[in-house]
Amino acid sequence: MQALTQAEIRQLFAQQSAAELALPDLTNVDWGVLDYFGWLHPSGHLGYVVIKEDQTLHGLQLRRSLNHSARPRTHMCSWCHHVYRSRGTALFSATVVGSDGRRFIGNHICRNLDCSLRIRNLVSDPPTYLPETVHIEHKVKRLKNALKAFMVRANVYA
Ligand SMILES: [Zn+2]
Repeated sequence: MQALTQAEIRQLFAQQSAAELALPDLTNVDWGVLDYFGWLHPSGHLGYVVIKEDQTLHGLQLRRSLNHSARPRTHMCSWCHHVYRSRGTALFSATVVGSDGRRFIGNHICRNLDCSLRIRNLVSDPPTYLPETVHIEHKVKRLKNALKAFMVRANVYA
């Protein structure tokens, strides 16, 4: 993806305080292997995702609920289709913009927002439970489309 600057991300989330945003240092970010930029707040309860297309940034603040079920169950990330045997995903939910805080949407996503690394096999812990014979270009397109669809539903992607 195109590289982002701290300033443009802060501008995108102008309603959030610096403490709430907890934007990480971008110096060592490898933009070439990312389809979206995502990070977690140190509290673990908030996450952020940003994409940039045609010089326009779209971003979402997400609430993260970890899956604490005792029994192992397989979970698939809705965005990148990585399949975990247990506890690899978390429920990320967003308030639909313009709904006065009344409507929410949610997806089960890789808990560390590292979908881009997973589809490129840059993190192997844990490996996917159901390997796919799908080309990387297809995985990238599928991931971007899923995130875009989520943003459309959240009303942050016109
Ligand atoms: Zn994922």
